[in-house]
Amino acid sequence: MKRIVIDLETLNEKDIEFKEEIDEIIALEVAPKTQDMEDGKIDVWDVLEPLGKKGLLGLRYPKELGGRGSSYIQEMLLSEALCYESLVYDMVRGSSVYPAGLISFFGKQKTLGKHIKPLVTGEKKGCFCFTEPDAGSDLSRMKTIYEKDEDGNFILNGEKRFITNGSVADLMVVYGRNGAFIVESNFEGFEMLEEYKLMGLHGLNLGHLKFTNVKVPKENILFYRELKTTTEGVQKKRTSAISSMQQFLGPERVAMSLQALAVAKRAIEIAVQYSQERVQFKQPISEFEGINFKVAEMAANFEAGKALWAKASKNPTNPALAATCKLFVVTSTHKICDEALQIMGGIGYTTKYPVERLLRDIRLHRIGGGTDEIMKYIIQKDIYKGFNRPIGEESKKKGEFQF
Ligand SMILES: Cc1cc2nc3c(=O)[nH]c(=O)nc-3n(C[C@H](O)[C@H](O)[C@H](O)COP(=O)(O)OP(=O)(O)OC[C@H]3O[C@@H](n4cnc5c(N)ncnc54)[C@H](O)[C@@H]3O)c2cc1C
Repeated sequence: MKRIVIDLETLNEKDIEFKEEIDEIIALEVAPKTQDMEDGKIDVWDVLEPLGKKGLLGLRYPKELGGRGSSYIQEMLLSEALCYESLVYDMVRGSSVYPAGLISFFGKQKTLGKHIKPLVTGEKKGCFCFTEPDAGSDLSRMKTIYEKDEDGNFILNGEKRFITNGSVADLMVVYGRNGAFIVESNFEGFEMLEEYKLMGLHGLNLGHLKFTNVKVPKENILFYRELKTTTEGVQKKRTSAISSMQQFLGPERVAMSLQALAVAKRAIEIAVQYSQERVQFKQPISEFEGINFKVAEMAANFEAGKALWAKASKNPTNPALAATCKLFVVTSTHKICDEALQIMGGIGYTTKYPVERLLRDIRLHRIGGGTDEIMKYIIQKDIYKGFNRPIGEESKKKGEFQF
């Protein structure tokens, strides 16, 4: 088995069997299709649908719901293996199954449970919608709102942009100032305004969505907080609805860090092999300190990132630790990919090797899931509360607002 990001010692026999199985599936069914997806010849779902049939999209769900009842570590093994091929696979997979996760988390199986299996198997596609034209890093500027109508159902108005899988999703978790609901793309008043063209991550189906007087049945509530009419009351309730969402951001950031580590590993492997084969001035370029010191730095950052991820993955809801992990891992992976390209000279800048794609794709991780600057904001807030204590300890105090 190949050297992997997750430490081998943490795996039991079942995990190793699982890893061998997915390595084979990915080698035979995923890797050969990646270039076609990159070139727009096939859709990402041409690759993901067969994985859904094998129970690999929402693998932690039980078999009867289309998953495999797998462990967290097995999901991470899959994530890592997919991202080694392309970040797009795992980002779309994670976004698509996200609504099923919230239905379970908020205990809405009775009213919304019928959606879980189709999402887990990939029969239906999902997405999650936080970001708006006026609310990116600052989610308190969110305008999207649910208003109760006379029969107890809700009217949704708002706009969401940069939504992974948004242009193709059947089911959306749409966050508003006062709650989050499951919204179906066939509800009247929903429009997909645009699918963005992207620098990297080709195939992500990134959508700009609009909701105009969309009638959402009350059964579709994930959570809802009534807004008060006074300015003071509105502010208070809005903050409380937004902080309900914050608890999902830490685990997302830790998961994004693992995705980045898989990309870093691929870039290092390609650069190391190339530098041993490429001869200039009568010797492999790996003999030049200018090259092999780059490799040393890449490897050191990769190992440090792995250690930080191992720590953060044990406590993913600690906001400052998750932010520290994401900031370090994604910025160092971006640098690793850039240095890998530099090691390869001109051929690195062509599409003959995937390094240029890795570099374009990983750039998103410094923006999505919270930008580098927002990660720094979270970390410095924590540090100024007292440096001589474990990171994030203070952040766990009840009721505290976190990004
Ligand atoms: C490919 C892609 C996929 C995405 N997928 C999803 C998705 O599925 N669902 C979803 O809801 N969203 C998604 N997003 C949105 C993403 O989370 C936002 O783009 C991100 O949070 C940043 O918001 P923004 O783009 O509005 O930038 P802004 O918030 O406008 O930031 C612009 C710049 O200002 C800086 N800045 C802002 N505030 C501060 C501050 N306090 N201090 C210092 N600097 C600051 C930022 O760091 C950044 O450099 C996706 C985005 C992309 C590009």
